[in-house]
Amino acid sequence: MKFLANSLKSICSAFGVHTWDQAYELLCGNRHTLSIQQHRGELLLNRIFFFASTFAVLTPAWVLVDWLIFPWPLWVELAVLRFFAGAVFLAIAWQTRRDASLMRARLLLIALLFLPYMFYFVADSMLSGYELSGIQSATADIYRLLPFVIIAGLSLFPLTLIEFGFYALPLLALTLYSVFAVTAVELNGAISTVWLFLLILGVSLISSLNQLRYMISLTSQASYDVLTGALTRRAGIEAMELQFRLARIRGENISLAFFDLDHFKSLNDSHGHQAGDMALRKTGDRIRETLRKIDTVIRWGGEEFILIFPGADCIEARVVLGRLMQAGLGKRPDGSPLTASIGVAELRKDKIRHWKELLALADSRMYRAKDAGRACCLDSHEDELRWDWCADTVNETG
Ligand code: GH3
Ligand code: MG
Ligand code: MG
Repeated sequence: MKFLANSLKSICSAFGVHTWDQAYELLCGNRHTLSIQQHRGELLLNRIFFFASTFAVLTPAWVLVDWLIFPWPLWVELAVLRFFAGAVFLAIAWQTRRDASLMRARLLLIALLFLPYMFYFVADSMLSGYELSGIQSATADIYRLLPFVIIAGLSLFPLTLIEFGFYALPLLALTLYSVFAVTAVELNGAISTVWLFLLILGVSLISSLNQLRYMISLTSQASYDVLTGALTRRAGIEAMELQFRLARIRGENISLAFFDLDHFKSLNDSHGHQAGDMALRKTGDRIRETLRKIDTVIRWGGEEFILIFPGADCIEARVVLGRLMQAGLGKRPDGSPLTASIGVAELRKDKIRHWKELLALADSRMYRAKDAGRACCLDSHEDELRWDWCADTVNETG
């Protein structure tokens, strides 16, 4: 039993899986962050583009080989098929250059995998109508390698286990059908063909899952700030662009808060950089604990954060911020509360057209909150929510 558990553990570590969450991320994509989904979409589309454009050139170019080797009219039939397949590959490559979404990548991958299969079936039925020998039959055998090439090609795409199954199982069924029902090869030959196919399938699965694991960890490492656990500025810009675009497409509202800690330099100056770092870590923890699950927090710069509230107007955002003010950001080493000045802007009320406008408006309101004496929040309604009011509420309720 212990041996089994240890073996399972080492298999999981080989995939870089140490927690149930990591295992779940490899199983299916519904808990992948927006940034992982976006990067995976782009990566899949780039690889599909590479394969589709390579095949768009190589498939018609092979006509020369067919012409040299196969008799008339077989090579002409194959040439027509090749030019047709080349044109479809070209269309797939062209489709990858349009908007980069994961759904588009998944659909194009279906086309990329099943087109060669259809090509293989049609070519195989053409070839089986002729008596071929010597170099001709050796060249015809190259066509029969196509299913193996396709299944090996799957290894180059970072896919979840469910996605891999979705692509591989129909390919496996088609292969079984072609081996046992279409080509009348003897049983021994059929079994070894299927065995080889399954072996390549297994290797492809391992490679595909490994790629996904490393892609997720690289994206996460590059996306999260180590000190505060918030998104880094670069990942944050992508998240903001995406959330804003989604809000516009879905006709929903979105709010954004610009958050700057007050007199932070003096904390560093009088108590040292390490005390400053501890205060930043605590601030990051408190923000993440208080925000809703769908909200995003970004460390914009030193002691500046951006909070994104999808679907919320600024009144709803203010409720969350009020909760954060009540919970507090912890104390400065001298015992006084650590506070921030916050500016909030929303898509609808502020009639915003671009995420940069939303950011600039929240930023300018944050500066006005500084001018208004700091420790307060200003939003689109020009209402001031003061930190001491929240602190008093805490004292009264506490
Ligand atoms: P204000 O209320 O006007 O915002 O005053 P402030 O002192 O917070 O503003 P300022 O922008 O002048 O200072 C920000 C300080 O944040 C400067 C820098 O020493 C500190 N800081 C930035 N990044 C870090 C960090 O990673 N760790 C620590 N400990 N301090 C940082
Ligand atoms: Mg600042
Ligand atoms: Mg500051």
